[in-house]
Amino acid sequence: MKKIDIVIPCYNESKCVELIYDALKELFSNELKTYDFGILFVDDGSQDDTLEHIVKLTNIENSNVRYISFARNFGKESAIYAGLENADGDYVALMDADLQHPPHLLIEMIHAIEDEGYDCATARRVKREKESRLRNFLSNSFYHVINWATGMRLAPGMTDYRLMKKQVADAIVSMREHERFIKGIYSWIGFSSKWVEYENVERADGDSKWNYKGLWNYAKTGIIAFAVTPLKAVIYFGFFVIGISFIYAIRLFIMAKMGIRLWQDTTTIILLLLFLGGVIILLLGVIGEYLARIYMEVKNRPIYIAKEKKLEIDNKKEK
Ligand code: UDP
Ligand code: MG
Repeated sequence: MKKIDIVIPCYNESKCVELIYDALKELFSNELKTYDFGILFVDDGSQDDTLEHIVKLTNIENSNVRYISFARNFGKESAIYAGLENADGDYVALMDADLQHPPHLLIEMIHAIEDEGYDCATARRVKREKESRLRNFLSNSFYHVINWATGMRLAPGMTDYRLMKKQVADAIVSMREHERFIKGIYSWIGFSSKWVEYENVERADGDSKWNYKGLWNYAKTGIIAFAVTPLKAVIYFGFFVIGISFIYAIRLFIMAKMGIRLWQDTTTIILLLLFLGGVIILLLGVIGEYLARIYMEVKNRPIYIAKEKKLEIDNKKEK
């Protein structure tokens, strides 16, 4: 029997803990009864009685609930890390506590992995009603730009809800950087992933833990953690300014020769300023390039992530 370990980060989710437990139990005693499952709650320093509710579930007979409780609120990304680090089972699932990630999607996700040969399946929230052309265009361009600048593969509506082979979870854990942006990490590690679509669901209880400041910081981390393009782009800008200074110099020179415009001291100064400005930007770009490398280096990411290995030779084989 294959085992699925379900990691659930919780921050002030006292009501939701039991709700999601019941929902999962229901699912695994019906549609998914051929699978074994475990739940790993990560209490992200909740201030309410979330932990008490979790502990209650661990005391039930034959309980399959485990938990980690943080000393303070470290944020969802850290909770995800702790959960994946301690997950076992053949597959690891990651879902929110508030039932906004419908548990029954797991059926389709398992199907994607077992029957269609994917390494993981990621849920994508879609809106069924038609959106305006302009909005669509803007949102598509946004993802294009982000993906281009950072090398990530993000898609609109992509969530953290995911089912993956244990191996994929291990790969995520091997990324030890502190500024974590899980969606970027998903695409960095590779592995084939299927998008599983679902319609938006309201929260089961309580309020979203996000505010605008949090969202802004999240987006910023996402871009800065993966993009070194802005640092590298400066070099091209430097070349551009130097190029312009040359073209401008030639133009002024020709004009002076033809007698349209006098060559004055100020002309020389303007040209010098422009040229030196370009040189300075170029040098900044070079420094940026080094900084970009140092930045990626200090993240201490693994050099590669292998999907399969056979490094021992089987000598027992008959000749
Ligand atoms: N969460 C967490 N730590 C935080 C904020 C949120 O572990 O600091 C958890 C939260 O308990 C929930 C999930 O992350 O299980 C998603 O949070 P929320 O529902 O507030 O986000 P939204 O669905 O609005 O994006
Ligand atoms: Mg939610």
